[in-house]
Amino acid sequence: AKLAKIPKPTTFLSAQILANLKRFPHCLLLTRVGNFYESYFDQAVEMSELLKIKLTSRKWNGERVAMCGFPLAHLDKYLKILVQEEKRFVALCEEFPVYFDNIKEFERRIARIVTPGTLIDESFLNPLENNYLLAISPGEEVDNAPQSVGLAWIDVSTGEFFSKECKLHNIPDELARIAPREVVLDTSLKAQPKHPLFSAFADTNCLVSYTTLIPIQSTLEQEPSSTVDGQDIDSPMTQESRAIDLLTEFLQQNLLDHMPRLDSPLRENSQERMQIDLHTLQGLEIRENSAYDGGSKGSLLSVIKRTSTSGGARLLARWLCSPSTSISEINARQDVVAFFRARTHFRVDVINSLKEVDDLGRLCQKFLLGRAVFSDLVSIRASINMWNHLGKMIKLEKDLEGREREFRAGEWEPLDALYRRMVDLTHLSERISNAVIDNPDELVENAEIDAAEPIQSDDIVETLPEVDKVACKKWSINHNFSPKLKALDDALQQLLKEKDELEQNLREKYNAPSLTLRSASGQGMFLHLSRARRDKKLLDADPDFYSIGESQTTKSYIYRRWTQLGTNIAETTLALSLEEKAVFDQLSLEVIECAHQLRQNAQVIDELDVLLSFAVLAEDMNFVRQELTDDITNGRHPSVEMGLLSSGRQFTPNTVEMTPTSNIHIITGPNMAGKSTFLRQTAVVAILAQIGSCVPADHARISIVDKLFSRIGAKDDLFRDRSTFMVEMLETADILNRATEKSLVIMDEVGRGTTVRDGLAIAFAALHHLTTVNKSRCLFATHFHELAEMVGNTDNIRGSGVFDNVRFYCSDVDDAGEGHFTYSYKLRPGINRDSHGLTVARLAGLPPAAMDVATHALSWLREKGTSDIEQNYDNFLKCTLHSIL
Ligand code: ADP
Repeated sequence: AKLAKIPKPTTFLSAQILANLKRFPHCLLLTRVGNFYESYFDQAVEMSELLKIKLTSRKWNGERVAMCGFPLAHLDKYLKILVQEEKRFVALCEEFPVYFDNIKEFERRIARIVTPGTLIDESFLNPLENNYLLAISPGEEVDNAPQSVGLAWIDVSTGEFFSKECKLHNIPDELARIAPREVVLDTSLKAQPKHPLFSAFADTNCLVSYTTLIPIQSTLEQEPSSTVDGQDIDSPMTQESRAIDLLTEFLQQNLLDHMPRLDSPLRENSQERMQIDLHTLQGLEIRENSAYDGGSKGSLLSVIKRTSTSGGARLLARWLCSPSTSISEINARQDVVAFFRARTHFRVDVINSLKEVDDLGRLCQKFLLGRAVFSDLVSIRASINMWNHLGKMIKLEKDLEGREREFRAGEWEPLDALYRRMVDLTHLSERISNAVIDNPDELVENAEIDAAEPIQSDDIVETLPEVDKVACKKWSINHNFSPKLKALDDALQQLLKEKDELEQNLREKYNAPSLTLRSASGQGMFLHLSRARRDKKLLDADPDFYSIGESQTTKSYIYRRWTQLGTNIAETTLALSLEEKAVFDQLSLEVIECAHQLRQNAQVIDELDVLLSFAVLAEDMNFVRQELTDDITNGRHPSVEMGLLSSGRQFTPNTVEMTPTSNIHIITGPNMAGKSTFLRQTAVVAILAQIGSCVPADHARISIVDKLFSRIGAKDDLFRDRSTFMVEMLETADILNRATEKSLVIMDEVGRGTTVRDGLAIAFAALHHLTTVNKSRCLFATHFHELAEMVGNTDNIRGSGVFDNVRFYCSDVDDAGEGHFTYSYKLRPGINRDSHGLTVARLAGLPPAAMDVATHALSWLREKGTSDIEQNYDNFLKCTLHSIL
């Protein structure tokens, strides 16, 4: 950097801070000053409040300015507050030495802008969850709605990168499934607040950022894209590729110095995934519970999770939110699960070896982002070695088994097929083995040159090692790795030998055993004598020794031969360190070259981990493998079952059998009798089946579900001024508009949020639509037993023609009188016309007087209905309130 004038250090700093604040007005600026990150001016006030750190001031050009700061080591802690919790952008300004006429100054440059969606390797990132940044690009509008919308999303910390195209109405579902931490849109949309895309955002509270898409030369690798379905992104103008460009642009603007080379995204094909809509994802508590904390406790994910690696845990969450619809894929997964179910010991061995290695997705990404250190090389090697070991384990186990019995044809094929997808990377592990010194623990501690902060040659003077300690210095790289390292090491050993000899000679010559050759920063090379000899003025007479100081106990001299030798040692040591760094950089490059293959293997291992976890789950919770048609014998709900088990109760299994001619089941019965559990468990079983897991049932056959819809447990959405009924109707409308013959719909008490008559009419219409238009499989729980008459499915009227595919099931209570009753939780064919609402109300503790009124009101309504209350009002009051009057 060439500056015309050399500014005073403080004003130089303040000038740079002011310039950075102006350039990045949307960010909180943290400026590195030595070992601190500092904030100034108004931002310091805000920062000190947010971080609860002390606000102080600094004098600049006679004026006091507000400032606060914290040591480097606390960066992650505070980024968590600023970025993750407060959702702010933080511009990290690092210092880089520059020289003006040999005067050292620091140029302060923004090295990265940390945003919620672009976290790299911050310690607060949850390794079990993805941290996605999602770019959305809506296409041309036709009839006020964009034709198609492009999506691209990446987890910068793991490199997982996807894209797809979908319809506008799918956006809320996609947002719920992907759960991005930040969404990127084109700046032009800012001026169109009425754009239909924004109404799709209504159901989320995700952070929206903007960027301007300038035509860019793509940073994507020019390799053919790895696609799920084998198609390439057709033309550069698709919305999908625009979304990818938008995402890339935003990453470049914010990752700056840390921008990685991006692989092409994995292209998702909607046809191959079960679509689970937003309400179902939330209502079935698939990933998070719907309690207010929204945490994972009690969610389906937390109940079935048995994975051993973070990569596996992330993949499981992804699979749960988008199960497969490809029969061959599901079968292949289930084959591996069945394979491991049958082999407990082998399964345990494989799981144990998976546990030994680090999260490879994150490791790879550290190299790509230029944040890797020496120990990361060792971790990469450990992963490759584990993969090779796994290959050997498979072979060994197969041989062993083969000796014991004859295989059925293809018995090992499921695992072999999975392992065949792994790429052999032994060459990389060998390269690393040749290079690094084999003691990873020491290596971490002694990796003196932090790879993330390359040494500038200008800094040599400052980084010169203390020469007297060089002999015991630990190195990270094996010095036999390259001829250059070897030559430098030989030279260093020779110099150290000369130093020992020189020291020895001097000690003998002057009979001074305490004489040592030393170095210290600021003093350079010097010779050191302790008290016993200093008084003798041994060296003072010799013109070769120049006294530079003495204390009560010691005396120091400069000795030219040592100064030369010492400087030589220091320079050679530094050259070695720099060469180590060069070797590290070279190896990092080799890792980056293999990043694609490393990832590919890591993906296989993630899959293996999830499939192993399914085998463990099936054993733990007694699940069965399902086939792909439609009946579930004695199905259970895993989360409810877990909950009951923990309080010593048993779950009552239930059976569902559907055929094309009986695909709509209406379930009636009392409150709290297990209706909605039955609905949910059926949906959960379908999801588990299609992610390749075994399912909680005695026996299950379910044909592929393309979309899963649910209308369950809506809450009021007061925040957006929607009543329960409105929410319910929006969800019902969505289902009736979108469900297909292959969909599974579960509807719990549609029409309850309004008058009985309106509700009944709507429930009837919904059923009719589902039967005649959607033709989906549907479980419909309701208190409206009148529906039985309305669809003509009672004992007296049969075979209306329209509703022939509707069947009725119900649950019961065994009423033992006086408020004592038990639930059977067992479904039987038929209709239950008693909701036992009053019994539940009594159990809930309604005051006896109120219960009395309710009981009498109920018997009036049962006998007479509401129509003649007006004419017989006195009678009505007498009858219902007699115990009070
Ligand atoms: P409903 O929808 O009929 O009001 P729920 O499905 O919400 O009833 O069930 C209420 C409670 O009953 C559940 O929280 C659970 O504790 C228990 N339960 C539900 N189904 C079963 C079952 N099949 N076996 C045992 N307990 C059950």
